[in-house]
Amino acid sequence: MQKQNKASSIVDFNQIREDFPMLKKSMHGKPLVYLDSAATAQKPQAVIDAITNFYQNQYGTVHRAVYELSVHATQEYQNVRKQIQTFLNSAKPEEIIYTRGTTESINMIAYSFGKAFVKPGDEILISEMEHHSNIVPWQILCEDRGAVLKVIPMDDKGDLVMKEYAKLLNPKTKLVAIAHVSNSLGTINPIKEIAKMAHGAGAKILIDGAQSAPHLPIDVQDLDVDFFVFSGHKVLGPTGIGILYGKASLLDQMPPAQGGGDMIETVTFPKTTYNVLPLKFEAGTPMIAEVVGLGAAIRYMTSVGMENIRQHEQELLAYATEQMKEIPGLRIIGTADHKGGIISFVVEGVHPLDIGTMLDLKGIAVRTGHHCAQPTMRHFGIPATARASFALYNTKDDVDRFVVALRDVIKMLQ
Ligand code: PLP
Repeated sequence: MQKQNKASSIVDFNQIREDFPMLKKSMHGKPLVYLDSAATAQKPQAVIDAITNFYQNQYGTVHRAVYELSVHATQEYQNVRKQIQTFLNSAKPEEIIYTRGTTESINMIAYSFGKAFVKPGDEILISEMEHHSNIVPWQILCEDRGAVLKVIPMDDKGDLVMKEYAKLLNPKTKLVAIAHVSNSLGTINPIKEIAKMAHGAGAKILIDGAQSAPHLPIDVQDLDVDFFVFSGHKVLGPTGIGILYGKASLLDQMPPAQGGGDMIETVTFPKTTYNVLPLKFEAGTPMIAEVVGLGAAIRYMTSVGMENIRQHEQELLAYATEQMKEIPGLRIIGTADHKGGIISFVVEGVHPLDIGTMLDLKGIAVRTGHHCAQPTMRHFGIPATARASFALYNTKDDVDRFVVALRDVIKMLQ
């Protein structure tokens, strides 16, 4: 496991909040309580400064030039790759590929893995609680290759039905693609066990880490997963940058997902040969400033300590859940024993959209809707939920203000 965690006693999470300029804003004349980090996270000053400094003082392209600016930008670009390697504990830096986000990472794997390994009649296994980003690319692939998409069901707490998973695995299963943490329910899935079972059946496994990388220590070698993907903007970094981790032995066998500059070794009209990892998967001028910003974000999170972040968010989750359970007519959707800091809920006789709109007027930002997880909503027989989600910068005071406001709003709307 990673050795990046300070002892929790020295982390003052009230002080951490001070590092985030957006959290000092008011909305509709009220102090902002930001509870939509599952959608996107606010940025610490260190990330904003790193991006500004890069554009103001250091900006240049990567890989292509011998002048100082380019050499420095290239070094920084590679340093951040090593930081991500440490963050995920991958075996080699070249297993870390920069993409634009979780969605692009999954689409690239679906295209490239599909081309290399998926034949007509093969099966891809996903779960009922996936984000659309981890459903639609597999549907496209299956349609393209004549493969079959199978779905692991979940129960009414929001846990995967592991017995059904075991039954669905068979020699035709080529890949299992599962969220580490559900964005709509908060369920933390037992990835180590799921990976072991997938490998036992001869399948590979992809983890959608969009909702786990910002909140839990991740060790891809310990989990023994073949692919792990996440988005920079959810780990306090900028938009437009994401990570695709893949085992080198697999990535080496997969064709490039895009063609263009940087991903080639030699180009002639009859034939092009491709670059080695990771550049084979990084066509074109990359998101250089976004990589710099992501590096600052990962340094920030690591300095707080991922285990400290996990513990803090677990405390907020328990504190908020206890109080919300007391609200008459409120039903929490997603009650798995192992949950991340996400609480989806519905209230009898009140539309989630109205809850979100009225909370906004009180300075509280929560998400409402289907959370890009329509099949999950369908399972629970509801079109939408309201969702409060926590990050390291939230405090018990945020929870108190949210719960007071929520009680008021429900009284007004019911
Ligand atoms: N997967 C999960 C579980 C998510 O929560 C999200 C974003 O909300 C995504 C995938 C897609 O991430 P992005 O939109 O950053 O590509």
